[in-house]
Amino acid sequence: MSAMTIKLHNTLTRQKETFEPIDPANVRLYACGPTVYDYAHIGNARPVVAFDMLFRLLRLVYGEEHVLYVRNITDIDDKINARAKESGISIRELTEGTAEVYRADMAALEALPPSVEPRATENIAGMIEMIGTLIDKGHAYAADGHVLFSVPSMEKYGGLSRRNRDELIAGARVEVAPYKKDPADFILWKPSDDETPGWESPWGYGRPGWHIECSAMSARYLGEEFDIHAGGLDLIFPHHENEIAQSCCAHDTERMARYWVHNGFVTVEGEKMAKSVGNFYTVNDLLKDWQGEVIRYHLLSTHYRAPMDFSKEGLKEAKAALDRFYLVLRNVEVDELPDSKPDRHLVDALADDLNTPLAIARLHVLATEANKAPTRRKKAKAQAKLKASGELMGLFGSDPDAWFRWSSDAGESLSDADIEALVARRIEARKEKDFAEADRVRDQLAEAGIVLEDGAGGTAWRRG
Ligand SMILES: [Zn+2]
Repeated sequence: MSAMTIKLHNTLTRQKETFEPIDPANVRLYACGPTVYDYAHIGNARPVVAFDMLFRLLRLVYGEEHVLYVRNITDIDDKINARAKESGISIRELTEGTAEVYRADMAALEALPPSVEPRATENIAGMIEMIGTLIDKGHAYAADGHVLFSVPSMEKYGGLSRRNRDELIAGARVEVAPYKKDPADFILWKPSDDETPGWESPWGYGRPGWHIECSAMSARYLGEEFDIHAGGLDLIFPHHENEIAQSCCAHDTERMARYWVHNGFVTVEGEKMAKSVGNFYTVNDLLKDWQGEVIRYHLLSTHYRAPMDFSKEGLKEAKAALDRFYLVLRNVEVDELPDSKPDRHLVDALADDLNTPLAIARLHVLATEANKAPTRRKKAKAQAKLKASGELMGLFGSDPDAWFRWSSDAGESLSDADIEALVARRIEARKEKDFAEADRVRDQLAEAGIVLEDGAGGTAWRRG
């Protein structure tokens, strides 16, 4: 274990706190995963990248083999049932296909796979058992084929969201149902008919509610009390509040997780994302026009707790920044670089509640240092430090030449940032008297219809 301390903003206390794991040899992190009925949009990708950064940092501090990261897959949900019916495919086909695309998309964003990725449908027995325990302890009741959690049975309900009872009821937009004893009570189990997936249970043929999934799966893989529970701000209420109620009442614990970490909201092109507005960006679509690392960099350029506006302009800026870094890392044999640890200031920034904007600013400082290094040896050292620092953030994993060769599937014309980077690259190649490379770049630009004009003041370009 390292002496380094991580600070995290804890939603439970509304404060930045020093992170102290229950067991440093087994640091446990849970994040709510996707409901697999549709491709992940950029709002789904933000928590994945943010908590991947946390996962990487925890691995650095405690050691890779001492961090356990669980992210579930919700493959039972009414939205899934509706979508499968609409598309005329089986529920299994829909959920497996969507989960597969999800994994590939998140891998393209350089997010490490979680240590365990449990599926809800493979954990039904654990949910039934937990519901039974809640009934036995007087925290839940069966009525009319349903099982409900009794909110008034838990004195401390609402501690995470800090809402009072009336706000809770209003916030949950609760359904009034004849089988509910209290309007705030929420579903643990509900009946299924022939058209919906279901399992036999002591309360009849049915399926679980959403909240109980995370309580049962986190308990199975991480224990009754674990270190960090993460998710989007929109999940605090009711989802996380209800997870806490279920887990603490079933296990007689004070806390489900010690630290609750939430990422901020995402707007796209300045507006709330909506299919009708035309700003509903799926990761899958974005990957056709942008390298995954560009999307990741754009996401990391805003602090994870701050609201973020995701935009094409932001992607262009991310691409230009990454082009600069890859230029610095170009023409070096990775094997020739000395071993390097990530930069200390960069690690400090990340350890301070994942301050990724500050860490990125530090990457730029390191790139400048590499460019200005007076000797070949010092340059290699600076390049190695830059590379190790970027890798901690899931960046610079591409081969620099492959990076610049990449072009979008659509074969669309190059963006201004792309062209600027290529022009800069050609100038550099000429300076280094690598004329073959300079010509190759010129040809690449020509193919894209870009005309170069070398003059006394440098190289100008125009679209031909
Ligand atoms: Zn959850």
